[in-house]
Amino acid sequence: MRIAVTGGAGFIGSNFVRDLVAGRFPVLDVQQMVVIDNLTYAGTLSNLTDVLDDITFHQTDICDTGTVTRHLADCDAVVHFAAESHVDRSIKSGLPFMRSNMLGTQSMLEAAAAAGVGRFVHISTDEVYGSVPVGSSSEDAPLAPNSPYAASKAGSDLAALAFARTHGLPVTVTRCSNNYGPYQNAEKAIPHFVTTLLGGGNIPLYGTGTNVRDWLHVSDHGNAVAQLLAGTPKESIYNIGGGFQLTNLELARIILDEMELDSDRISFVPDRKAHDARYCVDDSRLRDEFGYRPQRDFATTIRETIAWYSDNKSWWHE
Ligand code: NAD
Repeated sequence: MRIAVTGGAGFIGSNFVRDLVAGRFPVLDVQQMVVIDNLTYAGTLSNLTDVLDDITFHQTDICDTGTVTRHLADCDAVVHFAAESHVDRSIKSGLPFMRSNMLGTQSMLEAAAAAGVGRFVHISTDEVYGSVPVGSSSEDAPLAPNSPYAASKAGSDLAALAFARTHGLPVTVTRCSNNYGPYQNAEKAIPHFVTTLLGGGNIPLYGTGTNVRDWLHVSDHGNAVAQLLAGTPKESIYNIGGGFQLTNLELARIILDEMELDSDRISFVPDRKAHDARYCVDDSRLRDEFGYRPQRDFATTIRETIAWYSDNKSWWHE
C-alpha cells in the first residue's frame, strides 16, 4: 500500500510514521510513504530525522488543494492527522483552527478524490462529544464541543462524513482519547508537567485538578489506525479509548512520584474557560470488530515517556 500521512511531522503523525517504518504495525504492508506537513510551530523535521530516507516529505499547507492533489498521485490511502491541536491556543484565537481543521480537511478530501485515492482515514478526537460527567460516549452520541478546537474537529468530522456520502470516497473517522509518548510539544499536559519540573518549577494544575482524561499510548493509537486501514471497516466512525482514566491531580502525583519529587510541587492556577470535566469514549465497536486492545501498560510507558523528555532536553528546548 502507498499511503500519504498529513501532519506527519507532529506528535502522533511522526510516531505513526516511525512505527510504520520500523515495522511495528505488521498488519499494514506499506511500500511507499508520502508525508505532507507545513511545519507549523507544532511540527518539526527533527521528529522524522531517523526516517527521512524512507519517506517522501513535502512541506505543504493542506489548504493548498492543487499541490496536495499532485502529492497524492499514486497513493492508495490518506491518513489525515494534520490539525491545529492545542485547546488553549484555540481559546486565544480559533481562526487558525477553523482554517486548518475545517478548510484543511475539506481540501484534503477534495484532493484525495481528485487523485483517485481509495481510502481516507480522518483522525479526530473524543473532545467532539464534549464533557461526559458519567458513562461513555458511543459513536452515535451527539456532538457537543465546548472549545473552538473541539468545534473545528467536529466540523471536520461532519465534512468528512458528508463528503463520503456525496462522492462515495471511503472515509473512516476515528475519535481517540488523550495520547502520551515521545515527541509531543511541551505545551501539552504531560510534557508540560515533566519539562516544567525538570526546569525547577511546579506543575501548574487548572482549577482543582479534578478534570478526568482517558490516556492512550501514542503507539497504541497508531496501531488502531493501522488495523482500520488494513481492514474493511463496517462502520464510518470508530472511537479509540485508552481505558486508563485519571484526574489531572492523579496524573500530576504519578509524575511527581516517578520523578522522585516532593508531592507539594503542584501550583493550582485559574481554570481554563469552559474546561470539560471528563471525556470517556465507548470503544466496544473497535474492540468487537477488530479485536483491538491497547497493548502498552501505563505504569511502564509513563516512566519511558518521562525518561524521554529528561534525556532529550535539546528537542524541547528547540
Ligand atoms: P500536533 O499539533 O503535534 O501535530 C499537528 C501537525 O499538523 C504538525 O506537524 C503541524 O505542522 C501540522 N499542520 C497543522 N496545520 C497544518 C496545515 N494547515 N497544513 C499542513 N500541516 C499542518 O498534533 P497531534 O497531537 O499530533 O494530533 C494529531 C491529530 O490527532 C490531530 O488531528 C488531533 O486533533 C488528533 N488527536 C490528538 C490527540 C492528542 O492527545 N494529542 C488525541 C486525539 C486526537
